[in-house]
Amino acid sequence: MSENKKAEKIVAVKGMNDILPSDAPLWELFENTVQSVLQSYGFQKIVTPIVEDTALFKRAIGAVTDIVEKEMYSFEDAMNGDALTLRPEGTAGVVRAVIEHNLVYDGPRRLWYKGPMFRHERPQRGRYRQFFQIGAEAVGFAGPDIDAELIMLCRRLWDDLGLDKIRLEINSIGDAGERARHRADLIAYFEANIDQLDAEAKRRLHANPLRILDTKNPAMQDLVNQAPMLLDYLEGESVAHFEGVKRILDHNNIPYTINPRLVRGLDYYNRTVFEWVTDALGSQGTVCAGGRYDPLIESFGGKPTPAVGFAMGIERLIELMKLAGEPAAPNQCDVYMVHQGEQAQLQAFVLAERIRDAGLDVVLHCAAAGGAGSFKSQMKKADASGAAFAVILGEDELAKHSATVKAMRAAEGEAQQASVAFDAVVDYVVDQIVGHDHDHDHVHYHH
Ligand code: ATP
Ligand code: MG
Repeated sequence: MSENKKAEKIVAVKGMNDILPSDAPLWELFENTVQSVLQSYGFQKIVTPIVEDTALFKRAIGAVTDIVEKEMYSFEDAMNGDALTLRPEGTAGVVRAVIEHNLVYDGPRRLWYKGPMFRHERPQRGRYRQFFQIGAEAVGFAGPDIDAELIMLCRRLWDDLGLDKIRLEINSIGDAGERARHRADLIAYFEANIDQLDAEAKRRLHANPLRILDTKNPAMQDLVNQAPMLLDYLEGESVAHFEGVKRILDHNNIPYTINPRLVRGLDYYNRTVFEWVTDALGSQGTVCAGGRYDPLIESFGGKPTPAVGFAMGIERLIELMKLAGEPAAPNQCDVYMVHQGEQAQLQAFVLAERIRDAGLDVVLHCAAAGGAGSFKSQMKKADASGAAFAVILGEDELAKHSATVKAMRAAEGEAQQASVAFDAVVDYVVDQIVGHDHDHDHVHYHH
């Protein structure tokens, strides 16, 4: 880089975020909690590629949807011309993998995934171009029981995360025949009131009139509220399925409201749909959305295989956790190694490795741009690290074959400092830390 020409600043792509170390512990707490809840319901992890054939999403999501119409990051592989897309959601890839590997050959599967999704939308609070989802797909299950189980899994998760401002909305969108009859009436109703439709609604009138029902245009709310309700068109099995879901939720005291206007943006959904919504995040209030998609797998050439799933938006849930005051566990270590002089540094490396062998987390002071730094500046670093102990090695210590072990968090009156023979340092530090924290498991120690 030439000296007089300043390098151009490169910043992150618009709508794509860094998760910084200050936020990472909260993300980790979130992910660990979700994973353990999923595991407690018997869900198995599946990892699929971030890039898939564009055709997969076009077919799985449907042409007349926000995602396929305008949100996909699609590109041509420069090497071979393949039409590829960064996944905008997780269900399509999981379904492809289930069919490709015949994962349901010996019965239904409970699967879950997590990872980044990509949608080219207008960035705003709670809406990004790269965002993270954790999702579950229960594949091969036909009854209302699994729908209720997925919902109860979410309920347990919110409880475990300490989130109490999330409410459940459910609906049933029936099957294809019921939707066709409703659709005809709906189009007739909107045509009779065509002057009240906005431009977007007019465009969707024949392509996807159901989507008009979740318009955010306040001027159309009355019209939408009076529109024929899909719920009134459900018959026999669809009604029984929805009743079955509600029966289990009621029996387990899971509160919900039935929102007849709840429809999913993705075309392949049928019967049960649900959303978990909060008022605490402004207009981006849906933190988790799910539903049944029985026709999808057969439409992909697989055997008829009913399925139901959900996806939650991690950024929105992390935001909620911050509002709920969930303290982020700071990044801390057990021991900070302070050293002065070449011999002391070598000895510090040896001791640090031994303390790590014992299962503790050790930060060994390493040189910055200005060198290793004075004893005083190293002690400041030791303090800022949050370490319980500083292990100090200087000329005096080398001469005595002993390290100075300083308690960084000792209360007044407790021993602050001890001289400990090199061979005894590991036992001493482990003893001190376990003595102060009986939960210490010798593998991962955090305050
Ligand atoms: P919306 O109507 O808000 O656009 P959607 O129907 O597109 O939502 P889904 O495809 O159902 O959303 O995704 C499931 C969840 O993923 C959402 O409820 C939300 O929590 C999260 N999510 C979706 N899109 C984004 C985004 N662009 N940024 C952050 N989170 C998102
Ligand atoms: Mg969307």
